[in-house]
Amino acid sequence: MEGFSLKSRAVAFALAAGAVVFILALLAGAPKAGTHGQVLSALIIAIVCGVMSWGSAERAIAGTAEAVDAVSDRIVQAAEGDLLSPTPNSVSATLPMLATAVEGLFAQVRANLESVNALAMYDPVTSLPNRVKFRRDAEQLLAGIPHGSVAALLFIDLDRFKQVNDSLGHAQGDQLLMMVANRLRHVAAGEGIGGAGSELPEPIVARLAGDEFTLLFAGLRDQSHALRLARRILYGLSEPFHMSDHSLDIGASIGVALYPMHGGDLSCLMRAADVAMYEAKANGRNQVQFFTDALAAQFEDKLKLERELRQAVERNEFELVFQPQLDVRTDTIVAAEALIRWRHPTQGLRMPGSFIAAAEENGLIVDIGGWVVDAVADTLARWHRQGLSQRLTFNVSPRQLERPDFVDRLRLAVESSGAPYSKLEIEITETLAMQCSPAVLESIARLRGWGIAIAIDDFGTGYSNFARMKDMPLDRVKLDGSLIQDIVRSSETRAMVHSMINLVHGLGYEVVAERVEDDAQRQVLRVIGCDLIQGYTLSKPVDEQIFVDWISGRVTPFDQSRRVRSITSA
Ligand code: C2E
Ligand code: CA
Ligand code: CA
Repeated sequence: MEGFSLKSRAVAFALAAGAVVFILALLAGAPKAGTHGQVLSALIIAIVCGVMSWGSAERAIAGTAEAVDAVSDRIVQAAEGDLLSPTPNSVSATLPMLATAVEGLFAQVRANLESVNALAMYDPVTSLPNRVKFRRDAEQLLAGIPHGSVAALLFIDLDRFKQVNDSLGHAQGDQLLMMVANRLRHVAAGEGIGGAGSELPEPIVARLAGDEFTLLFAGLRDQSHALRLARRILYGLSEPFHMSDHSLDIGASIGVALYPMHGGDLSCLMRAADVAMYEAKANGRNQVQFFTDALAAQFEDKLKLERELRQAVERNEFELVFQPQLDVRTDTIVAAEALIRWRHPTQGLRMPGSFIAAAEENGLIVDIGGWVVDAVADTLARWHRQGLSQRLTFNVSPRQLERPDFVDRLRLAVESSGAPYSKLEIEITETLAMQCSPAVLESIARLRGWGIAIAIDDFGTGYSNFARMKDMPLDRVKLDGSLIQDIVRSSETRAMVHSMINLVHGLGYEVVAERVEDDAQRQVLRVIGCDLIQGYTLSKPVDEQIFVDWISGRVTPFDQSRRVRSITSA
């Protein structure tokens, strides 16, 4: 009967009843042989019966139809978001079971939605509001702040959480986060803001991500009130945390932004507190830093640089220059280091010192480094075709190497250009070499397996573990320029560099001295056994054409240095 309305069923029922009565009436009069009068009276009886049955069916069905219509309307309302209004009375009166079922269903949906909301709003580890709930509550709190009163947004980043998590495991890490959350709750509650009898709103404590927490206090008197609060939190977090069988000192860096001075809305305040927090970390951790005008200007500069760097990647504004390396044992140029330059559309040539660190921080180094890999492969392939045998060495930053696709990208670049693997060298910093993950070490070993040489750059600036170095896939170690500076004047430095060279040789690697600026340094390095040198004593980094001309003997080193000087002063 699908598709038939209740009304049409009533009509059908009435017609059927009428037809049955009509047949029965005819059969009842049959022995007297049917006359027109008999047929007519049977028909009249049938019509009366049909009308009577239609009337009674219609009454019952009309009530049901009304209830069904009311339930449909209610379901439509629920679909539009109203899960609270009661089921209409007409449904409970006419179809009580349906009314109960609908109420039960809505109650279940309401309960499910509430638990989904709770999951989406609270951090399961600390039970603190998460970022979503924090934003919502903080916006409400800021909207209700009385004119003239101050609010403080604190961004807190734990200083040594990563080490705890890495060395003790995630379970202990989670336990520590719970303890931190409890201390924050405790300090916030102890401030007397929002407590019983207080007219000021309750502070908000939330966990934004990982080891980042935030607090928002409204209704503070002034900046010094905010400072006192932040210091209390800092002291609270510098107390050791007692775990089951040991205690942990972690400390925190706290950035503070004030409303309305540092931002008129939540997004501005969060950005300002974040900037201040990074400054606190950069200044040596375990401290409180307020947002300042100087930080605002720095932040603007950073954003501008990021924007311009993004454009530079898109518009291909980078170039490579090349600085030769001399083998002091044979007096021949055996390699060149590729160094990046940025031809800025309005500021001229920019040195890597002014943008590489920023690119590492904002992640653009991955794209920039990708460009370098392609350019290095193309250059080396060109040299190879021209019959040059020099190695080409280039700098790779940690964020590039940590990308799982780095090795494949490099292979693609080398193979499509036709550059020989055996003439490529990768420079990784000492810190990366000492701290990299097993996965990164494996990537380095794969590269070396193809014949690419591996060098540790800026050696002597960080901390090195010789046992680890012994087992690393390595070919060369580049002594940092700061070690070379005093090598002529200071016998201690000379002795130290001498023993470093012996140590590196003992491990089976070659030594390259960087930033060798004059003949005297060059002579000392030769005497104490250094293998290769690089620096202004040979040449500044130069354009490819100059380097190639020099190597192929078309220009003497003297001409070359004159040309270099004219290029750098241009
Ligand atoms: P680095 O790898 O230690 O490069 C050596 C730096 O010392 C170069 O600076 C070079 O021009 C400079 N230099 C060379 N000889 C002398 C000298 O005799 N005296 C002095 N005072 N300096 C000398 P540059 O080209 O400004 O590069 C600076 C740093 O930028 C590099 O240090 C490297 O860490 C980074 N860098 C350069 N190119 C790239 C790149 O393609 N990728 C990445 N990730 N980093 C790069
Ligand atoms: Ca280097
Ligand atoms: Ca270096």
